Amino acid sequence: MSVLLSARGIAKAFGGVQALNGATVEVEQGAIAGLIGPNGSGKTTMFNLITGFGRVDSGEVRLGERNITNLPPDKVFSLGIGRTFQLTRVFARLTVMENMIVAAHRHERGEGFRMPLARAGGAATRRRAMELLEFTGIAKLADNRAETLSYGQRKLLELSYVLMAGPEIVLLDEPAGGVNPTLIGTITDRIRELNKQGTTFLIIEHNMDFVMGLCDVVTVLDYGTAVVTGPPEVIRSDRRVLDAYLGTAEGDDDDAAA
Ligand code: ADP
Ligand code: MG
Repeated sequence: MSVLLSARGIAKAFGGVQALNGATVEVEQGAIAGLIGPNGSGKTTMFNLITGFGRVDSGEVRLGERNITNLPPDKVFSLGIGRTFQLTRVFARLTVMENMIVAAHRHERGEGFRMPLARAGGAATRRRAMELLEFTGIAKLADNRAETLSYGQRKLLELSYVLMAGPEIVLLDEPAGGVNPTLIGTITDRIRELNKQGTTFLIIEHNMDFVMGLCDVVTVLDYGTAVVTGPPEVIRSDRRVLDAYLGTAEGDDDDAAA
């Protein structure tokens, strides 16, 4: 197995807050990798820096052999890294299909919205969009405005949108957050199926059943540092992970064990 995505020694401060403190995350080609950690531990910041939303203070991001550190978001997207956002960023006033056409255009041209939608959505693009919407289970909503979708359906639209580019790796920021159990099941199934077809994943998620059931390998962030990386069964019982979540102070070990 070779490393597809690596973010090594990433540091980033916002004013006095050290959001990332030399953290390293590596994802093997073909893996479903998880990124977990308490609120504020730097997970979303890591995604932002990998995908060009903000510049690293230090460290290096690589896609395969290529150094992609601080490239702009559309460049990162067109090189094969798709992502979704913790709070979905679909275009609320556009229909589901129009959102998909925007995604296709963004990928093909490496730019946003200069071409009117009517001209941008050729028959082949629409066919591909419908296939993906059928895959994610929201094809019947194709002509509805995105703002009418439930939160879980928006997450599925965002996943569909990202897939229009045929990404090599997809970064998902809390795909199960606020989503009902039925749709969580759909999202899980779709991730597994895409992974079988060759797509690599890096997933931030608070839902531990979701992470532990889906991921091959998990990295735990705590205060901007990657404290441990390993398979779910190792992560589950690692003392440093319990400490990160429970906030056990250094030196408290004896008391906590009692
Ligand atoms: P997580 O996704 O793990 O909950 P974040 O990466 O969102 O954590 O945030 C890590 C830390 O960096 C937090 O303390 C957060 O308040 C801070 N932070 C993140 N983005 C910004 C920003 N744009 N400006 C200021 N502080 C930020
Ligand atoms: Mg976050």
